[in-house]
Amino acid sequence: MAFSGLVTRHSATPNHSTRNAGTTPKYIVHHHMATTGFSAVLASWASGRKQGSCHVAISNSGELVGVVDESRRAWSLSSSMFDSQALVTEIANSAVGGGWLVSAAATEAAAQLTADWCRRFSIPCDRDHVIGHREVYTRFKKGYATACPGGLDLDGIVNRARQILGQGGSPLPASAAPAAVAAAPVSSGGGWAFNLPDAASQLRVQRALAGRNPSRYTGPQDGALGPNGFRGIQITIRGVGYSGPVDGVIGAVGCRLIQVYAAKFGDYRGPVDSILGPNSWAGFALGLERP
Ligand SMILES: [Zn+2]
Repeated sequence: MAFSGLVTRHSATPNHSTRNAGTTPKYIVHHHMATTGFSAVLASWASGRKQGSCHVAISNSGELVGVVDESRRAWSLSSSMFDSQALVTEIANSAVGGGWLVSAAATEAAAQLTADWCRRFSIPCDRDHVIGHREVYTRFKKGYATACPGGLDLDGIVNRARQILGQGGSPLPASAAPAAVAAAPVSSGGGWAFNLPDAASQLRVQRALAGRNPSRYTGPQDGALGPNGFRGIQITIRGVGYSGPVDGVIGAVGCRLIQVYAAKFGDYRGPVDSILGPNSWAGFALGLERP
């Protein structure tokens, strides 16, 4: 059995497989559980009732529970290719809904584990290799669009893990372009990050897209933007120079133009740096809502 020495107990599950031939962990992917019910999630994996798993589950109090052996492939990303290259956590939320926050204790535990995994598996401790579930889709085009891991502070976790490892400094920004999963680490020039806002802000964007004439979005208004909503966003940013495909995959150019649109139509006064944050989205939504 191979588990981090930080794990203090185990909760077995039948939900795991061999890693694809020739693959070793090169990414650390953090998930949130989208619930505060830590024991119930462990129980659903233990019974095999729920088709998911992770290597280490982290409770609200920061307890690290070993679930899947590190040599095995956990089921977490809807991509056997990416799961084969990943070490993954599932972290309990401290509150349900809103910003889907995670406690300080759980965040610190995630940073400690990240540092341990980076050291033991020679994974660079930066934001190109330590990522949230949603970035598997937005940066690597694997799996599906998701807001997971909610309000987890990924930059903070990498900063803290680097401190633990004695590496100091800031993490590299998100990569300039989506890379093939098997590719060598990509350079960090011209970073961008397609961070989604909280559910309330996503709902605001969905409503505003749907309310446009003609409508730019006809999917559910559920506060979880997906490919259909992203297509509506791409149609919208054509108004500020977007000439790429309307394919629901928003990259570096799309991130920048969301901010350009927010500045032009939605009173956004932050940087146009392709790193989306809550203010970028608030400005984008406001611009969309205006007639
Ligand atoms: Zn997830």
